[in-house]
Amino acid sequence: MATETTRFAPSPTGLLHIGHAFSARFAADKAGAGGRFLLRIEDIDGTRCRPAFETAIFEDLAWLGLSWETPVRRQSEHLETYKSALAELERRGLIYPCFCTRADIQREIASAASAPHLHMGPEGPVYPGTCRHLSNAAQQRRKDEGAPYALRLRMEEAVKGAGALTWRDQTHGERKATPEIFGDVVLGRKDTPASYHLACTLDDAHQGITLITRGEDLFAASHVHRLLQALFALPVPIYAHHPLLTDREGKKLSKRENAISIRALRESGQSPASVMALFSAEQQHLNVSRLELEERSYR
Ligand code: GLU
Repeated sequence: MATETTRFAPSPTGLLHIGHAFSARFAADKAGAGGRFLLRIEDIDGTRCRPAFETAIFEDLAWLGLSWETPVRRQSEHLETYKSALAELERRGLIYPCFCTRADIQREIASAASAPHLHMGPEGPVYPGTCRHLSNAAQQRRKDEGAPYALRLRMEEAVKGAGALTWRDQTHGERKATPEIFGDVVLGRKDTPASYHLACTLDDAHQGITLITRGEDLFAASHVHRLLQALFALPVPIYAHHPLLTDREGKKLSKRENAISIRALRESGQSPASVMALFSAEQQHLNVSRLELEERSYR
């Protein structure tokens, strides 16, 4: 097996559950013997991330028997890096400020409901482009008024400039990148000079990740990340999107609904080995009958 540099990149917005344990284990296993396994805390969302959850991530992963290289990269400490990347895209004319609120966007979409340009993207309805054609003067006026704004990518221009792009996915084979399905994606949020797509792509390159592992739920994001790699001339890693663990109804595990936290399993006397034995990287599926037992005793 090749030696790779992989990472686990949780957001500290809640306690880790067994789906996260599976994902972290998958990433660590994929590094291979002699490979590097890194950890990154994706905490750019100041309203949802909590230091206590970050502490819990370290404790829970260590309890599970995983070890990672230090230092751990914490995204909130690198906002300047993301800001300069946005400034570069601005100089190249590839982003524009968007002053729309969610309500504005919904209203615009509702009024244009039959318009041919209305599409559903992986993150919901594609932005209808309201602010795309604002003049420089109009943009400046809104900024001077103190109106908060996000920064959106001029997707069409970016795609045209980048040309045809592909990536290699261990699960899905050679893939053609189609980032245009996202429309003018947000790269700088109103509350912070970054977005998941921007910070994640830059950090994966900065950390020298050669194999990006994550759940199938983030598969579509890779289209955007591949484009960002091209725009910033970054190395192109290989990808491995793993299936998501499900409960016995086949429903995806989520922090809010049906997932057992590592903390709860630990506090109820489970051993790390018994938690890890619920799944394996080869198997890629949760041992459902075991989970049913666990559910009965630990929920
Ligand atoms: N921070 C993301 C999450 O917790 C994962 C990002 C990634 O692996 O690319 O869902």
